[in-house]
Amino acid sequence: MTTSEPDCLFCKIVAGGVPAEIVREGERVLAFRDINPQAPTHVLVIPREHYPDAASAARAGTGLLDEIAAEAHAIAEAEDIASTGYRLVFNTGSGAGQTVFHLHCHLLGGRGMEWPPG
Ligand code: IMP
Repeated sequence: MTTSEPDCLFCKIVAGGVPAEIVREGERVLAFRDINPQAPTHVLVIPREHYPDAASAARAGTGLLDEIAAEAHAIAEAEDIASTGYRLVFNTGSGAGQTVFHLHCHLLGGRGMEWPPG
């Protein structure tokens, strides 16, 4: 595993080389607002270390997915959407819409959600 990839957009955000609207900072995770929000609350929760997707972090036994879910819930509480409900999305693979290959969890809320998603 490498901890940072020079050409990775989210590694650059972690390093401060690309600006982002940071929502929460933890020792191992970082949360910032999505640049193209799809809901009133649309925050990306990412690990500081580079993993291309959720499966690779899970395989490595990092515990990061637990941490990301807990962090997302704390943000949902802070944004007052925890009680009404919110959605966590890990797009995995380009066929599922993943465009940035640094593990990230979309936290979406503040509006009604449809199922199934498109
Ligand atoms: P994906 O499609 O699941 O890989 O999600 C990538 C997300 O990153 C998309 O929702 C983009 O809008 C978002 N995004 C891309 N560049 C930036 C940025 O510089 N800051 C914040 N969000 C970004």
